[in-house]
Amino acid sequence: MAYTIPNSCVHCGICLPECPTGAIQLDKNQEHWVEPGLCNDCEDRDAKPLCVSSCPDSLPLTLPNKKGRYKAEPRILNTHYLFANGHNNPIASSMVIWETCNLLAKGTVFPWQIDGNGKLYFERQVKQGKGKIEFRLTKNATTKIAKTLSQSNATSIIESMDIRAACVHLIFAAFVTNLERPWEQEFTIDNKQLETHLGLNKRKDLSKAAKLTLIKTLVQQPCKLITKIDWFRQGKIQAFSVPEDRIWHLVAIDNHFQEDADGYKHLVGMTFRIKAGIWAKYFLNKQGYKKYVAYYQYGTLPKFLLTTVMTIWHQHEGTVRMMLWLLFKTKMGRQQRITVPKLMYVAYGEAKVREASVHREKRKRLLRRFESDLEVLNHYHIKPIFDPITYPTKIQPLWARLAVIPDDADEAMEFWINDGCNETSITDAAPPGKWNLLMKARILNFELPPEWDKQLSRWENKKQRKARRQSKTQTTVNLNGEKISAARKRLGISQRKLAQQLDKSQSWVRDIENSRFSAKSGDLSKIMKILHIDSSTNEE
Ligand code: SF4
Ligand code: SF4
Repeated sequence: MAYTIPNSCVHCGICLPECPTGAIQLDKNQEHWVEPGLCNDCEDRDAKPLCVSSCPDSLPLTLPNKKGRYKAEPRILNTHYLFANGHNNPIASSMVIWETCNLLAKGTVFPWQIDGNGKLYFERQVKQGKGKIEFRLTKNATTKIAKTLSQSNATSIIESMDIRAACVHLIFAAFVTNLERPWEQEFTIDNKQLETHLGLNKRKDLSKAAKLTLIKTLVQQPCKLITKIDWFRQGKIQAFSVPEDRIWHLVAIDNHFQEDADGYKHLVGMTFRIKAGIWAKYFLNKQGYKKYVAYYQYGTLPKFLLTTVMTIWHQHEGTVRMMLWLLFKTKMGRQQRITVPKLMYVAYGEAKVREASVHREKRKRLLRRFESDLEVLNHYHIKPIFDPITYPTKIQPLWARLAVIPDDADEAMEFWINDGCNETSITDAAPPGKWNLLMKARILNFELPPEWDKQLSRWENKKQRKARRQSKTQTTVNLNGEKISAARKRLGISQRKLAQQLDKSQSWVRDIENSRFSAKSGDLSKIMKILHIDSSTNEE
């Protein structure tokens, strides 16, 4: 049972700094009240609670349980709702939103750096250093002037980061797609909406007060992040710089109370007023996009992702990080090849993977964790498709090897008989050097659940139609990997050099040359230009 401050309080403020949990707060009228989810009744004190002992009139008293329903204060009406089709919703998907999601999901394993002034920052290079996004942290979510934090002051904030705040960030990123000018317009979201989207409305183990406090904490965390961006020229859109600003502004929190027959006020809800930072003017600007001065980058947020993250975050942090990362990665196309080290960096951080490379026991543990996290992904219908060349059956997780066993009892029997006749069995232990093999292994792509996949395939079709329209006026290009490889070797250019000139990875060039997939028409034009291949004859 929490304490409360009665109406007779004269708001002298003496008790406020005394509360050890920060439960005593000021409302928008500068009146003192106790947030019930934060008040622990000073349970570790034998004497009177600190708020009671410090108050000249010993006013604070225990808040009786709320009985019955009473008239509530009027709330701001919410104008926007998510998941109108019941499955997914558009979401702002620019690199800054993606990286913010990674940062919130990774918490203490995020590779923060220290600048010359001892301030904590993280710099993400984009397009081989042509652009960069810088992140910093600030202490308060609501103050107008956001002061960036030094390492010592930021540690407690980083340690208190909750992976579930990434879900709230995604909800905000989905909400802003409803706005025409999100960098100028606020949106409101209340606890009921957040509880529904996060699946907290089904949690019977949490009291109303605990849910409200959790939601408030999760809402505040993305609002403590500040970004500054230098972006490079892309097509007709010129390079630009985005000044330092919060990712999300928490404009205000409106607390909603119900007063019972005895005059006690009970906290029953919260409404958050949020505004996107200035990044939205550059990356979520419909009008600017039409005039070639900004981008309008959006993707799709499947509803199930939020509730799944909220269900498994505690036991499977690695799975959650991979899931959130794939939300943005798959936006670039469903057929995205991902190396195992990259996936491990996403799930556990580079430091952990490097550590595992040199410690046998840690390596074993990390490997077990990785394979288990992949299994959980697979359980939620995000199925990894292993590259048969670099990630063959012998180094695949046992659950993936066993997945080929037929369901039918007779067929399964036959399978095991055949397996027993082979030199190797699918249940054989992994070969020596599995870790080293995995460090070169790749996952070809992830099969996705229907509600996620359907939307992506719609976009891919749309993109392809657009590309076909654009290429109508261009000369038909029939350039296979063999020809590219021959032309490159004739000019004495290495794969690495060609990759650099194309702004691609070396493995991308290797795959094109091995005809593992085809380059898009824009990339083919660039290749032809670099390798001096004639567009009409495809001859150098
Ligand atoms: S009882 Fe203790 S924790 Fe609760 S409001 Fe008073 S001082 Fe704060
Ligand atoms: S010390 Fe007493 S009168 Fe002063 S704000 Fe606290 S409860 Fe109110």
